[in-house]
This record gives sequence, C-alpha cells and structure tokens, in this order.
Amino acid sequence: MISDLEPIHIVWLKRDLRLEDHPPLTHALKSGRRTLLLFVLEDLLLEDPHCSPRHFDFIKQSICALNEALKAFNTKVLTAQGKVISVLESISREYRIEKIWAHQETGVMVTYQRDLAVMRWCQKEKISFEEKHQQGVFRGMKNRVKWLQKWDVLMNQPIEKTPLKKESLISKREIDRLSLGIDESALQTEKHSLRQAGGTHNAVRYLYSFFKERYRNYQKHISKPDLSRRACSRLSPYLAFGNLSMRQVLQKTEYETSIGNKSFALKAFGSRLRWQSHFIQKFEMECSMEFECINKGYQKLDKPINKAYINAWEKGNTGVPLVDAAMRCLVQTGYLNFRMRALVVSFFCHHLWQPWQACAHFLARQFLDFEAGIHYPQLQMQAGVTGINMLRIYNPVKNGQEHDPKGLFVKQWIPELKNLPEEMIHTPWELTSIEAGVYDFELGKTYPQPIVDLQKARKHATSALWPLSKSTPVRKEGKRILAKHTLADRNSLMR
Ligand SMILES: Cc1cc2nc3c(=O)[nH]c(=O)nc-3n(C[C@H](O)[C@H](O)[C@H](O)COP(=O)(O)OP(=O)(O)OC[C@H]3O[C@@H](n4cnc5c(N)ncnc54)[C@H](O)[C@@H]3O)c2cc1C
Repeated sequence: MISDLEPIHIVWLKRDLRLEDHPPLTHALKSGRRTLLLFVLEDLLLEDPHCSPRHFDFIKQSICALNEALKAFNTKVLTAQGKVISVLESISREYRIEKIWAHQETGVMVTYQRDLAVMRWCQKEKISFEEKHQQGVFRGMKNRVKWLQKWDVLMNQPIEKTPLKKESLISKREIDRLSLGIDESALQTEKHSLRQAGGTHNAVRYLYSFFKERYRNYQKHISKPDLSRRACSRLSPYLAFGNLSMRQVLQKTEYETSIGNKSFALKAFGSRLRWQSHFIQKFEMECSMEFECINKGYQKLDKPINKAYINAWEKGNTGVPLVDAAMRCLVQTGYLNFRMRALVVSFFCHHLWQPWQACAHFLARQFLDFEAGIHYPQLQMQAGVTGINMLRIYNPVKNGQEHDPKGLFVKQWIPELKNLPEEMIHTPWELTSIEAGVYDFELGKTYPQPIVDLQKARKHATSALWPLSKSTPVRKEGKRILAKHTLADRNSLMR
C-alpha cells in the first residue's frame, strides 16, 4: 500500500554535531526530499559506564549551537530522549521515512549493537539506511596495506558547502508539532568555568587561537602538565563529538603550513591528527580491546583488585604528588595532556598493580574528549599489554621534577602542599621532622604517605612483565598484531 504521508530523509546525528563538512547532511539535502535532523539522547548512553553528565552537557551545548545556526533556515534539531527505534517509529506515524543518513561510528560495543539494530529495523520497514565516513577509519579492513592511501584520499577531498535551504528542511513548527522533542529548557546547561564548552563556534575559537599564536610553544610545552593546556590545540572534545571534522582541521593545518614559517610545530601537530585515525582504525579492526588485552598472551596476568588503592587513585590521594594533582585536575576540568594521561594509567597499572580494565570506565567518564578508539588502545599501550610497544613505567617523581620543576601544577591542585619549597614538592616524604615543623606539614595528616613504595612497586611490575613479554604466547600474538595493525615500515603509519 502506498502511504500518503510525505516522504522525508532523516539525518541521524550522533558524534557529528556540526553543519559543515557533513556528507550525510549534504546528501540528504540534495535528495529532493525534505530533511529532518534528529538527535536522540539515548537511554543506552545515559546508563553507559563510559558516559557522564559532562559529556551530555557538551552534547547539549553543541545542539544549542546547531539550533542557533539553524534559526536562519526556520528549523532545529529534533532532540528526543529514549530509544532510537522508538523515536523513529513515532516519526513514521507522521512522515514516510524514505532514507536515514548517518556517519559510521566506531564506538563501544553498545553503540555498535544499536547501529545494527537500527539497520535491521530499517530493513524490516523498507527504509534505506546509509552511513558515510567521518574519520579516516574504514570498516571491514583485514590489514593496513591500503589504509594510508584511503586515508589520504578521504582527507584531501574538497570540502563541499552544505546546501542548507529553508524549503529543504522540516520547519521548526512541524518539529514542535511532532511533540517528540525534549523541552528546550532541558537543553540548557550550567556554565562550568573549568571545562571546555561544546559547539562549533567554540571549536572554531580554539582552532583559530591555536594557529594565531598558541602553536608556537606546541612542542616545547606538550609534556608540561600546566603549560600544555594552552600550547596544545585542545581540539580533542570538538573532534570527539564532531563539532569539527578531522578533514576540516587537517586542511586548515595544511593551509597554515603553506602560508607561514611554522612547519616544525605544525608538522608535529599534523602527525598527531593522523594518529587519531590510526588508533581508531585499530579499535575498529579489533573491538574486543574494550574488554580484553589485544595481546592474548597477557590474559593470564594476575592483578588482584585492591579497592582501597583504586579509591585513593580516583580521589587523588595516593600520596604521590604528580599523580594526585593530575587526577584531581582531570576530575575538575575533564582534560589532561598526553603525558599526564599516560602517567596516571602507568601508575595505576604498574605501581598499584591493577588491571587496566579497572580504570577504563572511570577515566572515560572524566575525559571530556572520550573517544573509545583512542582510549582503549592507549590504555593497553600504557598498561604494557600489547607486546609490540616498549614497556614504559613512568617515574612520577622524575616526571614531576622535569615537567613541573617549580611545583606550580602540584600546588594548584594539592593546596595541602602549597607551603613546601619547590625542591621538596614532589617528594614530601623526604622532609625531615625539623623541616616538616618549619613548613607546618605532617605526612599522613596534612597529606597522605605514598600508598606504595615507588621503587619496590616498580621493581615488582618490571619483574612480572619482563619475562612475560618474552613468552611464546606473547611473541606469537605480537607477530599477529604487527601483521594486522601495522606495515612493514611501522613508522610510516605514524609519520
Ligand atoms: C590513556 C590515554 C587515553 C587517551 N584517551 C583519549 C581520548 O579518549 N580521546 C582523545 O581524543 N585522545 C585521547 N588520548 C590521546 C591524547 O592524550 C589526547 O588526544 C590529547 O591530549 C588531546 O589534547 P589536544 O587536543 O590538545 O591534542 P593536540 O596535541 O593538540 O593534538 C590534536 C589532536 O590529535 C589527536 N591526538 C593527539 N595525540 C594523540 C594520541 N597520542 N593518540 C591519538 N590521537 C592523538 C587528538 O584528536 C587531538 O585532539 C589518550 C591518551 C592516553 C595516554
């Protein structure tokens, strides 16, 4: 039976909250049918252990920014709450959904299963469903032989202007009439001065200020816990939620390089942009990494859970200043630079001898830029369970002395230590009783004793991991991983 409902196209927004360089939107708008933009605040994500209110705030801020830009076209994003299929079923009662467009998402298992369920539903309802690439990540690849080529082609494609027109979009009034959207007031969020706010306008602000001036100290400050916050681009949450596409950032980087004398910093930055896709591609091709070690030879690593250690680490009360400052800073601001992320994970997995799985969800909830495809491969690299990367156990004291020599970062986040002189800030346990009296400091009271002996803990981790790294199962798996995820010249993927 032919329905007399109006046939429409839907653009199902997920982690692609922007209007420019958005192939699903462009295709929908060119279809000749009117288009509805849909976002669903999904129950499944609201309950997921990787997600936290800071992520939903970022999403809401991004949607408000979209709605602001869409006012000129007399439309808005239909933002519903619940299950995607139930929302689509409700829309189907008012319109005949001819086609749904979306970006292909490489996410955690629940979102992958949700995508499959939506595809099955579309098949049953005879609705066409098409996904487009958002990152340089390709489904179904068995190895990396063609990956670089494909990545280059995708990233160098010219960015087409989105052909937004009032008459091609379902109007705001019609969307309101559907009565499926959450109340506009529910999209409002409280301002959090220490966290980055969502929305393409904010993303563009960071992008431009980076290229205007901040990039100058990119390499010099990238490892500094405090200075990196300004010298790095800070684009990660905007890329994770798609306020900007990777292609937009890459092409802007190439343009900036072509017009100025800034090639060193921008070369280093450009490489990292490529790493983003490289890591996500790895996760796409081996998504069991969410649950188990990529190198199955490490499966038998015995690390008993110690809740007291985990609790102290999460709260920034381990008694190791740089670790604690980083954890407290992360919880408050949602951001750490790469080195501090690696350091807190290394401390958790090596010094505290805890399995990486026991910190994965907590960290995901704190990182505003949580991206499963970077998070899980990086966690496993830092935990030393890949069998293809050098084992690296970060020394929190040495890192503190090198990268926070005056202890400014530590003092900012651990006010209990603010009276200590800079040469003692990373080793408060070395204060003599006379010094402690002078600085009005009592170890174990003002600030905790280290919960582990740093040297002994490091030795224990090395002596457990080193022989295992030489074992036959780990080596065999290492070869498999190299063949699947790298090229003969490993560095060519990370150039
Ligand atoms: C344990 C651990 C977990 C991590 N989890 C995430 C995560 O969930 N989301 C995330 O975006 N990054 C993650 N990273 C990578 C990295 O720390 C962040 O991308 C970076 O600190 C973000 O800051 P920025 O945007 O200023 O980076 P910039 O240095 O300005 O780099 C620009 C962009 O390049 C990409 N990039 C930079 N470094 C890396 C890297 N080492 N690997 C892959 N891509 C990179 C990011 O998209 C980043 O936004 C993780 C690192 C570790 C060690």
